[in-house]
Amino acid sequence: MEKQRISAQVAGISPSATESTSFLANQLRRKGIDIISFAQGEPDFDTPDHIKQAAVDAIHEGFTKYTDVPGIPELKEAVALKLQRENNITYDPDQIVISSGAKQALYEVFRTILNPGDQVLIPTPCYVSYAEQIKLAGGEPVFFATKEENNFRPQFDEVKEHYSSTIKAFIINSPNNPTGAVFEREELQKIADFLVERGVYLITDEVYEHIMYDTMQHISVASLGDKIMDHSIVVNSVSKTYAMTGWRVGYAAGPKDVIQAMGDFQGHASGNINSIAQKAAVTALLGDQQPVRDMVAEYGKRKNYMVERLNAMPGITCRHPDGAFYTFPNITGLFGKTYDGNTIENDLDAAKFFLEKAHVAVVPGAAFNSSGYVRFVFAKSMEEIKEGLDRIEQSLDLLS
Ligand code: PLP
Repeated sequence: MEKQRISAQVAGISPSATESTSFLANQLRRKGIDIISFAQGEPDFDTPDHIKQAAVDAIHEGFTKYTDVPGIPELKEAVALKLQRENNITYDPDQIVISSGAKQALYEVFRTILNPGDQVLIPTPCYVSYAEQIKLAGGEPVFFATKEENNFRPQFDEVKEHYSSTIKAFIINSPNNPTGAVFEREELQKIADFLVERGVYLITDEVYEHIMYDTMQHISVASLGDKIMDHSIVVNSVSKTYAMTGWRVGYAAGPKDVIQAMGDFQGHASGNINSIAQKAAVTALLGDQQPVRDMVAEYGKRKNYMVERLNAMPGITCRHPDGAFYTFPNITGLFGKTYDGNTIENDLDAAKFFLEKAHVAVVPGAAFNSSGYVRFVFAKSMEEIKEGLDRIEQSLDLLS
């Protein structure tokens, strides 16, 4: 008898659209076509030298064995200090678990708090993995769309309208991937008070907290009150802030019972995080923070350049993001335009057009549950940004 080869649950996952864009771009590259990719969401900068040195030292010191599953005490202490110093929240080290990037921390949160059928409310556009992770954990994502005219910042009234008693958790991603939107303090307080009153967990993904452009202030929701803190699970990582995406170190902080259960799950699912990378993360969090300021200053210049150029192109409008390193231009002005007998009808068609005719890879908004937009990464050198935008601008001449 033929057995089902792939489980129904895993067969139901959508492949990551950001990865499939990179895949398409790589296919063209293999054909010898020079592609500029604005698709991959990671810093172009190298990991700062003092952080690399900490890893080299760890290797030479023989720090190469299993560690405590939830993380080495030194790193949990460093995370606690960081949360106090930068976010004004006080956690004991046993309220912290070290994970393989924020991605694993998020998955462990969903696995730990969701029962079958529990719903998680997510403002869109949103990061690609939330919905699939929630489904894998047996839960159900429920979406509501934020508005471009509000700079994609979620509003209290929108949350209230979409809340129901089956909502177990709410996702706060500020600054947001892909829009760069940052929650305003007043709205965040109202949203948190309303949801916590109803026993909802606040899962707060703060991986872009340091990549901000002076328009807004980052506020960690857990700092807004004891009861709110009791319902918050803070997720963060060293990936984006310190240009350490490949090192795979993230963490979650929250109520002791939830964190303990996440650690138990991790103990069987994957075990401890790479011992050497944990040592490097200690240095990242406690060491010199100047490289972070330098990188953010550079992102700011690139953002301004990219937004200005995109706004000068016919059919494209682009807001300044509050944070993160993405622009999310509205490309609905291109809909209905034709080239080579094809019509651009949606964001997927527009991304295909840019790839085929401009040799520039961007991610269609549909990947983030939002059509009518595409996402450009500006964590790229100024030369690449300039060249990529020149190509996009020229390709628009092909449209009629
Ligand atoms: N959360 C958001 C909003 C992201 O954009 C990403 C990465 O793109 C992650 C989490 C995962 O980051 P990490 O590298 O720490 O797993």
